[in-house]
Amino acid sequence: MAVDTRAKTQRCTKCYKRGWFTSSSKNQSSAELCDCVQNCISCNGIGYDRVKNESGYDFLIPCPSCGDIRRKVKRYNLAGIPAKFKDVLEVGSFHPRGRGSIEKSQQRALAYVGEFVKNYPNKRGFMLMGGAGVGKTHLAIGAISEMTLIGGVRCIFKDFFYLLSELKDAYSHGHSENEVIEPLIETEVLVIDELAKGKSSDWELNILDQLISKRYNASKITIATTNYLSADCGDRARGEVLDDRVGERIASRLHEMCEFLLLEGEDFRQSKNK
Ligand SMILES: [Zn+2]
Ligand SMILES: [Zn+2]
Repeated sequence: MAVDTRAKTQRCTKCYKRGWFTSSSKNQSSAELCDCVQNCISCNGIGYDRVKNESGYDFLIPCPSCGDIRRKVKRYNLAGIPAKFKDVLEVGSFHPRGRGSIEKSQQRALAYVGEFVKNYPNKRGFMLMGGAGVGKTHLAIGAISEMTLIGGVRCIFKDFFYLLSELKDAYSHGHSENEVIEPLIETEVLVIDELAKGKSSDWELNILDQLISKRYNASKITIATTNYLSADCGDRARGEVLDDRVGERIASRLHEMCEFLLLEGEDFRQSKNK
């Protein structure tokens, strides 16, 4: 993924020459354009340039100085990144902790996700498995923050539990589930957070099946996090595994679509409070 350096020299030090800031509004993190982009001297802050085509007609093109950064900021704002992750702007903000195999597993995941972002577009996404608080969501958000703000890739983040409540809400207001699900099928990259959390009722599994099957058929990149381990990592005797939670059909698709990465660890949030 190439870093855009065009017109960076015109930007100010207030925004570290990035052209934007992030802040949280309502429940979401949002990026706002810095004044150095808002008041772009090339286009007077309109974001477009008027040019003439061969027949002499005027038409608009994105401003060569600020159009690209405006598009990327829009992508970030459409990704639905939760407010508490407003400072997670790159994969490198994840720092492996613990010792021995714990630290190694986190370093492996960090290295994989870093390469994934660097080499994007890729053929497969990834699944981050591990207990609560090991940093799975942080790592996934670092990836899509970079992909939107630097790469301009269309990404959507969705907590699976929240998706289900959005669907129930849509039904109760007489809307079809397609209005909620369609954007998640269409988006270039989808992050499903907390996959397999909840009851795993037939209805929930049916929603997940639709989502996964359609993205699978369209060869789209899916990233997920889950508290459950896959059957080849987990021990069924010590608790449920992901494959049993989601069923064989969804599990086998996920294995084809994703590289499975295990993050071992003590609970990050707990160790912060100690
Ligand atoms: Zn600035
Ligand atoms: Zn401009």
